[in-house]
Amino acid sequence: MPCEVNPRFVVLYGSQKGQAESLAEGIAEVAEEHGLVAELSCLNHNEKYNLEKENAPVVFIVSTTGDGEPPDNALQFVKRIKKKTLSTDHYKHLCYALLALGDTNYANFCNCGKTIERRLQELGAKQFYATGYADDGVGLEVVVDPWIEGLWKAIKGALSKMASDKTDVLKGEAGDSPKETPDSSTLHVQLNLLGITDHQSCEPIKASIETLSKFASSSSSATQTAVSDLRPAFPAGSPVLASQCCGPASVSTSAPKTQTGNAGVPGVSLAASLTCSLPPLSESSLNVPALPPPYLDVSLQEVDSVEQIVGLLNKESLHAAPISRAVQLTRGDSVKRALLLELDVSAHPLATYHPGDSFDVFCPNKASEVEDGLHRLGLHDQRNHRVHMSLRKDTKKKGAQVPSYMSQNISLLYLLTWCLEIRSVPKKAFLRALVEHTGDGVQKRRLQELCSRQGNADYNLYVRDSSLSVLELLAAFPSCSPPLSLLIEHLPKLQPRPYSAASSCLRYPGKLHFVFNVVEFPACSGRPAGRRGLCTGWLFDLINPALVLPEKEESSNSPALPKIHVSLRTNCCFRPPSDLSAPFIMVGPGTGVAPFIGFLQQRELERKENPEAVFGETWLFFGCRHRDRDYLFREELEGFVSSGTLSHLKVCFSRDDQEGEEGEEGEATTSAARPRYVQHNLLRNSQHITDVLLKRNGYFYVCGDAKNMAKDVNNALMEMIQTELQVDQLDAMKTLAGLREEKRYLQDIWG
Ligand code: FAD
Repeated sequence: MPCEVNPRFVVLYGSQKGQAESLAEGIAEVAEEHGLVAELSCLNHNEKYNLEKENAPVVFIVSTTGDGEPPDNALQFVKRIKKKTLSTDHYKHLCYALLALGDTNYANFCNCGKTIERRLQELGAKQFYATGYADDGVGLEVVVDPWIEGLWKAIKGALSKMASDKTDVLKGEAGDSPKETPDSSTLHVQLNLLGITDHQSCEPIKASIETLSKFASSSSSATQTAVSDLRPAFPAGSPVLASQCCGPASVSTSAPKTQTGNAGVPGVSLAASLTCSLPPLSESSLNVPALPPPYLDVSLQEVDSVEQIVGLLNKESLHAAPISRAVQLTRGDSVKRALLLELDVSAHPLATYHPGDSFDVFCPNKASEVEDGLHRLGLHDQRNHRVHMSLRKDTKKKGAQVPSYMSQNISLLYLLTWCLEIRSVPKKAFLRALVEHTGDGVQKRRLQELCSRQGNADYNLYVRDSSLSVLELLAAFPSCSPPLSLLIEHLPKLQPRPYSAASSCLRYPGKLHFVFNVVEFPACSGRPAGRRGLCTGWLFDLINPALVLPEKEESSNSPALPKIHVSLRTNCCFRPPSDLSAPFIMVGPGTGVAPFIGFLQQRELERKENPEAVFGETWLFFGCRHRDRDYLFREELEGFVSSGTLSHLKVCFSRDDQEGEEGEEGEATTSAARPRYVQHNLLRNSQHITDVLLKRNGYFYVCGDAKNMAKDVNNALMEMIQTELQVDQLDAMKTLAGLREEKRYLQDIWG
């Protein structure tokens, strides 16, 4: 019997936090269902693929990190394809599709994907499917799901076209057809669908064109808040009933209204909540994601003594630094609590940090939550057992690996305390996997709804936007009993939290300051009581007994403060200008002012040491809610103005109604004209700012909230450039892009 071999295609990913990797794996996993063989590889592993000779379609899934940079594991690839010596037909033979992941809250949206795409086209590669630009700011799945839905037909079309091109070449007809643009090629691919055998369905051409236009419209009007789903629904055709998809027929996909209710407690409430849905969702058929294949075997082994188990936080780069001082900078409770911590880094490699650098704080999960988790998993008695992990021999997961960040010699307690982000919001794939471990039918159905396409809005409302953790979810679904292996497979690595240095080591030798807001998550459906952010809550608990409050004098007999583990994250761009005569503008509302305190402390010393030198003027735009409650570093900033280190200080208060602007020039304004936010103050100083940036080769720094502030500041800059240069929006954008390129418009933003 002839053996049928499925056609192959290649999936290459570049991923910083695992999202692109997970999507690429998801595509590879379901390829077989579409009659295809996927060869999956990370872009860095160039020994595993050969684009120079590749004759199968290639699918790129790439994310963007930092200020538009490629992820670490795509850096080498991007460098290689950027080589000027490559000819314009280098990738003439290559057919590709590309899915770019990014976040519009940050500058240079999807820049890595765009760079790869531009270079592929410059090198002659042909696009067989329209590029998807997925925005984590509104939910990757808005673009990712339809993009993957349409991918399968596009790949088959590309395969068919490549085969017919080959036949044409063999017939000596190559070169007769006109060169195709990506769009016409995409259309061609769609038309070719009629000619190939699709094992899944042979829907008419209209369907695939609809898929594309749906994709195009959802990518352009992606305004809804949607889930940032690691592994999207990989539909294999028409909607399926959840009960068909998930096994046991106990789940009703069109449950009558009376059957909905708090999971496991029928009839208690008919208000929608995390555990309860209402029609139409409760009666809807559901498209649920494919079940992620399990890939880990996990066992717990008793050890003779706990000391046998190591599990220390890393070694070379990680050192403990004592907290030497903790001060609360804000007053009252109507503002976000801001704290300043001073670390003694005299014996630490961090001691030579520069203004603009940040550093990582390694925090553990909250002990009470770890305890709850151990009880919930029924593993409390085994908390000191060694965790043994290996790959399941029969796993269907492509490229499965035991997580590299977990040592084989750690206890269960250590694993839950230091390795897994147990607070992370469960992705839909995780919810889908939890369905399999849920006994109660109503709870099972609700989990299916939450991970389904139809349940998107509920997922966003009750899970994503509420930042619900897996433990909170398990508390709400008591009949769900996942094995430990499932948590290890689905929970991400516990990441350290970065903080910007708020001091200069020249001003405070051996010391490092940082400032943070204590993040508060309110109670919500599924979370009976509010909780603090993981790291900021942990730091707060650590320092609370010795915290110096604004109204109180520092006491000499306050309790000793503990040490914390930190490591340096150097930032070679976000630095004060090396040319001391260059003027610069700093925009840092709230805790975003932190690095600029370091900039100004350094500048003050430089001025003292070089009395003859010419220093460029300095501007700081600061903003907060109330002058007398959260004006951080007020005295120090006013001192910089008095000493001439800071030429212009522009401060605004968003919630003080009667007062005018606070500024060193003593301007007062009426309430109506009063600037509320930093961007308003920027616009008021439009001419000076554009002058500094466009005529005097100055620098513009922004630090703080990425979600709103950085965007508003960027828009204000655009407006200023348009007005001052009398140019249109496109030219203003180009001017800003030029400033970024020259590293004179720099951002250090988070959120
Ligand atoms: P988590 O438990 O991790 O919860 C964080 C979640 O809470 C986020 O997903 C977000 O949606 C939400 N959230 C609500 N308010 C905030 C907020 N104010 N900040 C962040 N997330 C918020 N933070 C500082 O306060 N000072 C700094 O100087 C500082 N510098 C940073 C520098 C860099 C390069 C980066 C990437 C981040 C920086 N951050 C800074 C943010 C900081 O790393 C943490 O994200 C923040 O302190 C929350 O950590 P957490 O563990 O308490 O919250």
